[in-house]
Parts: sequence; structure tokens; C-alpha cells
Amino acid sequence: MNTFAQDSSTAGIVLRTVLRHGVAFRDQIAEHTGLSAATIGRQVTSLVQHGLLQERPDCTRAGHVGRPTIPVEVDDRRLSAAAVHIGRLVTTVAVSDLRGRVLAIAHLPTRGDDRELVVAAGRRLLGLDAGIGDRRLVTAAVVAPWEAIDRSPITAGRTLRDVTDLPTATADHVAAVAAADLLSSPDHAQGTTAYVYARETVGVATIHDGVVPSGGRRTGSVTHLPTLSDTPCACGARGCLGATVAAIGPAAHAAGIVSRPDVELVHAAALAGDADAHALLIERADHLGRAVGVVRDLLDPNRVVLAGQAFTAYPPAASVVLEAFRRTTGLGPVPITLSRFGAEVQAAAATAIALGPLYRDPIGALERHERQQRRSRSTRRPRTRPVTPGTSGTSGAPGTSGTSGAPGDLTTARLQPA
Ligand SMILES: [Zn+2]
Repeated sequence: MNTFAQDSSTAGIVLRTVLRHGVAFRDQIAEHTGLSAATIGRQVTSLVQHGLLQERPDCTRAGHVGRPTIPVEVDDRRLSAAAVHIGRLVTTVAVSDLRGRVLAIAHLPTRGDDRELVVAAGRRLLGLDAGIGDRRLVTAAVVAPWEAIDRSPITAGRTLRDVTDLPTATADHVAAVAAADLLSSPDHAQGTTAYVYARETVGVATIHDGVVPSGGRRTGSVTHLPTLSDTPCACGARGCLGATVAAIGPAAHAAGIVSRPDVELVHAAALAGDADAHALLIERADHLGRAVGVVRDLLDPNRVVLAGQAFTAYPPAASVVLEAFRRTTGLGPVPITLSRFGAEVQAAAATAIALGPLYRDPIGALERHERQQRRSRSTRRPRTRPVTPGTSGTSGAPGTSGTSGAPGDLTTARLQPA
């Protein structure tokens, strides 16, 4: 059973089917897609020519009537994707292969305005890519909890596109976590899945039949959901969920438990046996579990997926979350799982959004890449000239395009598992 995006190309359907199967014969692709042998033959030839699939003659099926059939698999040696994830404190950059495997990753502090931050992240990305060297970057994405950290997906997307010369997608961070989860758990595309993410920010996304919301949009906000904590929130109230989750690092720092107000240090201290850190994390887990119960009862999804280090980084807290959830929900049992992504969830989420256009319409995505590269080459000369004041919002950022005329390829992400 497949769910496909409305704008998914036939080549995208074939690519995703092969991606899911590993090594796939044409008749297996036909069985899973319902496409004709002639169509599959044409699409496979095109995908091989474009470096997206490769033939596996060593896996040729023996003893078959007629010509031997050569299976294909995803060619993960030639193309790569650039991903930027902006967190409240830490920005993650990663280069991944066509299967979404992270080849290189780096972290930098989240600071500066949107443009300064993404220029720094983009340059770091290009440095990482130069260190790998053997694949061609063809797609990029920048992902963040835009609302929670008050940053602009439009500025960030344009800046990353200008720095990397790549077609660049943007998405809300929780939607991106959902996209990553759907790649590895295609059954989560059936019906409604509610994703709850928590680390230094907290967010929810509801995915219906595998359709991930695009751009900076989100399906709702739980930032100011009341909890039983008395943590003050910027909104003036006390106990808002976002403030309660964000307060862990600073609270542990103020109590002398950790040297910096960094939640990862709190996790590390608790894992090392610090009872005060443990108590803070157990209290947060109880607040989170109750909130997840409220979210579940409001949305009544077919399943709930919990992601982010607040759920995954300290295993003793996970059972507390589940217990508080079960006490709170009034709708009976529901499948509730921890995301399989642990510390690498940020890179995986942004990578899933970067690869989305390629999985959906691979040939179209490569054509957009070619157009973007041509446009960048043609604007490179003006780029070195002084930017006329007032012609664009891009002046003052060294090394980035000062041309604002070309719209470029700034796509919004929608991703479907095969
Ligand atoms: Zn609030």
C-alpha cells in the first residue's frame, strides 16, 4: 500500500520503491507500483543515467526464462544533500548520501541574525563537503523550530541557497522530524500520526496519510500549554510547557549541577549518577508525559511518536513520560513509540527535507539544481561588485549574493514515503 504526494513523478515512485527494497528487480517494482514494464524500463534507464540508480549485474537472477534480468539499487556514490538544522543554542550542519546516511556532521553555536548564522552554517557545510570530495551536492534544506526561536524560514532559505548555489527547501523542525521518521517507518503514513518533539524547544506536528506540512508552517503549538510547573514564561504566565522544558539547563546551572546552562550536560550528569540532575529530568519527564496525554486527547491520532533528546537522552525518564501519559489520557491505549533517532535527530530531520524533492521528483530536482547553478554562474560577476544600498536586504553579508532579481529555487518541502 503506497501513499504518494500529488506532485510525485513516476521516476520518484520508482526511486522510492527501490530505496525501500534495497536491490530490486523490475518485476518487484511493477508489483509494488502497478506501473507497466515499459514505463519501469524507461524510468530505470533514466534514473541510472542521472546517477540515482545503479545496476547490480552481480545480483542477476539465474535460471530465469529469456534474458537475464539485472536488478537495480540506489546509487549512493555520486550525489549528496546538504542539511542545516537551527536549534535554540546549537546549529547542526550535515552532508548526507542519497540514502540519507550522514557522511559528515559539524556543530556551531546558534548566534547572529538569520543571515549571519546561515552564512556561517553554509560555509561550514561547503567545508565539510570539500572534505568528503567524491559526491556532488545537488539539494539543500534548512530546518528550525522557526516560531519558538523567532527566526525566518524565508531569510534562512534564501541565504543558504545563495551561499551553496543549491535549490533549498525549508520546513518546520517537527515536520522535518516526521519526514525523517516516515522514511524509516512507512507504516506511520497510514492514518494520523502525532509527533511530539522536545529538547530545548517543544513542538507538535500531525501528519495525515504521510503528508508533511511545507515551509515554515506548523500544525499547532504547545509552547504555552499550561503545566503544573511554576517556571515563569516570557508571556507573563507560569508553567507554560515551552518555558518549563527550556528552563532545565539554566535551572541546573543555577543550582551548581552543571558548568554551563546546557541541557546535554544535565543529561550527562544524570547518567553519571547525579541525583539532583536526575530529579530535574524526572520532573520534566512528568510534565512532558502529561502534555503528551493532552495532545493525544485533543488530536486523537492513530499513533504517537516522541522525538528529541528530552525523550531519548536519559532512558530512566522515558518510563516516567509514558506513565504520566497513561495517567493523563482519557482515551485508552494507543501505540506510542520513541523515535529511533537519538542524538542525530536534528541532522536526520534536515536531511529528510533536503532529500524530499529528490525522492518526489528526482529528474525535476536535478533540473532545478542545474538551473540554480547556471543562475549562480551568471550572477557571480555582479556578486563581486559593490551592492547598491537599498536594492536588497542582502548587503553587508560578505560572500553572499547581492542580487535579488532571480527568484531562484526556494522550495517548500513535502515528502512522502514510498
Ligand atoms: Zn507562556
